[in-house]
Amino acid sequence: MAAPAAIGGSVRHDPAVLAVAKILPLVTARGMPGALDYAEDSLAPVGTVVRIPLHGRSVDGIVVARADETDVPADKLKAVEAVSDRRTTPELVELAQWMADDVASTTARALQLVAPPAGKPKQRLWVQAVPGAEPERPLTAAQRELLDSLAASGPRPAGDALSRWRTLEKHGLVAIELADERRRPSAHAVGSSSAKIPATTPEQEAALTRIRAAATTTEGNRELLLHGVTGSGKTEVYLRAAAEALDRGRTVLVLVPEIGLAPQIVHRFRERFGDVVAVMHSGLSAGERRDEWWRVWSGEATVVVGARSAVFAPLDDVGLVIVDEEHDASFKAGEDPRYDARRVAVWRARHHQAVLLCGSATPRPESLLALEVIRMTSRVDGRGMPPVEIVDMRREHTLLHPTTREALTDASKAVVLLNRRGWSNFLECRECGHAWECPNCDVTLVLHKRRGSLDCHHCGHSERMPANCPACGSVSLAQHGIGTERLEDELGSLGLQVLRVDADISDPGAVLAQFGAAKRAVLVGTQLVAKGHDFPDVDLGVVLDADATLRFPDFRSEERTFQLVTQLAGRAGRGGDGHGRVIVQTKAPEHPAILAAAAHDAEGFMSAELDRRRVLGYPPFSTMVRIVVSHHDQVTARDLARDIARPLALARVGEVLGPAPLFRLRGKEREQIMLKAPSRPAAVAAVRDAVSRVERRASKVHAQLSIDVAPQ
Ligand code: ADP
Ligand code: ZN
Ligand code: ZN
Repeated sequence: MAAPAAIGGSVRHDPAVLAVAKILPLVTARGMPGALDYAEDSLAPVGTVVRIPLHGRSVDGIVVARADETDVPADKLKAVEAVSDRRTTPELVELAQWMADDVASTTARALQLVAPPAGKPKQRLWVQAVPGAEPERPLTAAQRELLDSLAASGPRPAGDALSRWRTLEKHGLVAIELADERRRPSAHAVGSSSAKIPATTPEQEAALTRIRAAATTTEGNRELLLHGVTGSGKTEVYLRAAAEALDRGRTVLVLVPEIGLAPQIVHRFRERFGDVVAVMHSGLSAGERRDEWWRVWSGEATVVVGARSAVFAPLDDVGLVIVDEEHDASFKAGEDPRYDARRVAVWRARHHQAVLLCGSATPRPESLLALEVIRMTSRVDGRGMPPVEIVDMRREHTLLHPTTREALTDASKAVVLLNRRGWSNFLECRECGHAWECPNCDVTLVLHKRRGSLDCHHCGHSERMPANCPACGSVSLAQHGIGTERLEDELGSLGLQVLRVDADISDPGAVLAQFGAAKRAVLVGTQLVAKGHDFPDVDLGVVLDADATLRFPDFRSEERTFQLVTQLAGRAGRGGDGHGRVIVQTKAPEHPAILAAAAHDAEGFMSAELDRRRVLGYPPFSTMVRIVVSHHDQVTARDLARDIARPLALARVGEVLGPAPLFRLRGKEREQIMLKAPSRPAAVAAVRDAVSRVERRASKVHAQLSIDVAPQ
């Protein structure tokens, strides 16, 4: 047996003697070292979750590479304590490593997103009929009934009837076995669906032809954008493209915005593909998530439909990646790692040489630039887009313009969008001017009359709705600004049946269903009402305060406004007799974003928007990186921010803006630095470097540093 020999400073061990695994501890602290070397003889593959000793503790880690040499002297090399039977795929390990760099996070944090969930699926006893078995002696009526019900249902959990099943098992009539709790009987798999599939329209057919070509090309482009007006039948294109990918023996990943509110698309995939569909989103319990993860991992589920984090589903051999409503901001994660599921989707599609199919009625300028566009310009039902009236509110002092009021009383089913929840924005004492503010954040508290509270929409602080002013005792309190709750009341006073959906409603899906079933009703709500639901009989769409989004000081505010109005317009007049109508109330009636939305001119708006961004050097022609330093003391925050900004400016990778103070949030003063740079990798590297200089100091004084690459 060869003794370890020193080669170029490192020690080469005979692989037969020693196997080395490079393992990343799943420890979230920034400033953790990269992968560490451990002795691991069972040759656990890349992606395996293992238990390792680290600084005298025992922690979870993931094998990220295997090696047969290490710089660690043999007597110092620690051994893996335990190898679990849980592992993720090598692809996802590679993805996590790429992603950590791409969003300036740490590999350990990124790995946590792709790591298998804790625990394994629960098991239970399943019973199934033994084909062709005949009873040796006559069965009782109850036994006969039980057997017949099994024949009708297919394999099912033994449940309460276990002892009776056991009797039948003794007769050789049924088999009972232990299997995953959520194991789906194969009888319900692909193709068993009874849903009728509509014939495609010419535009759908053309889209499918292009997608098919992309799916079979080796050299050509596979990254497509389905730009189709609402009601053009994009979902049907997704379903058919998915069926074709499955027919080729490949798997399908479908990303959708916040699933709880858009269950229709999940329903349509389930209806078409049955139990091979796994659903993944943040609303699942840990157990549900774990079960779905294992169904995907085991290959039982070959279609994943889910929100942002579903992009990490352990699918093998992906043939098609769909991103529906690709403009939706929920694809971007709000916490470190601040990844963008759309970027991750591109990475995975490339990795698998799969087709990437993004879809939207209002695609992002960046997607129009980067992807090959397939257009669908007409609605499936052959009707035009509803006319949009812009109602000038500059001289109005009421919530509803007379035109709007009249239209609402005439409409049979209307959707009204007001992007502010609660009753009123803020409360003020008419006597002394006292305003109710959040004790933790520099914002006013929002009145929620229904639950009788004043709430902070930033930190969750909540206090009882006051009867009088704590400063002067006056009971005369002014309620400024109007939110969805108050709108609900106002519309109710017109004698309309009003339903509301916003983040304060616990089961928006149920409200949407109620609205769908109603003959006559008004649905009011925040932007949630403009999202992916499909009610064919809506004949009026109303946007109130359409310029609210324009008031945000952000380069995307035009795009947001355009999207919101266009998405809502897409909800009106989708079926029935074609009397759809849209009203946009605004104090900025001449704003290009609003005019373009009213003219249904997505193409025109986006190309003008791209020109504007090119001139100003905004994304997609640059990358923005946002650094925020937070600390309870403003001077400390500012000092740290300056010490980041200075070297960042010297790195000359782009334009540095700030530090500039942000409003106080959750008791923390915040300072922001923005970097706008032509090269994303250079920007990320420079930011990492600048931030690393103050990291130790920051952690000593308990200051928080956050980096957001391409913030939303
Ligand atoms: P989009 O996602 O583009 O807004 P959908 O896919 O939701 O549009 O389609 C709108 C409606 O038209 C749905 O009710 C859908 O079932 C129906 N539909 C889609 N394609 C066809 C078709 N080829 N023939 C008839 N109905 C269709
Ligand atoms: Zn007062
Ligand atoms: Zn607050």
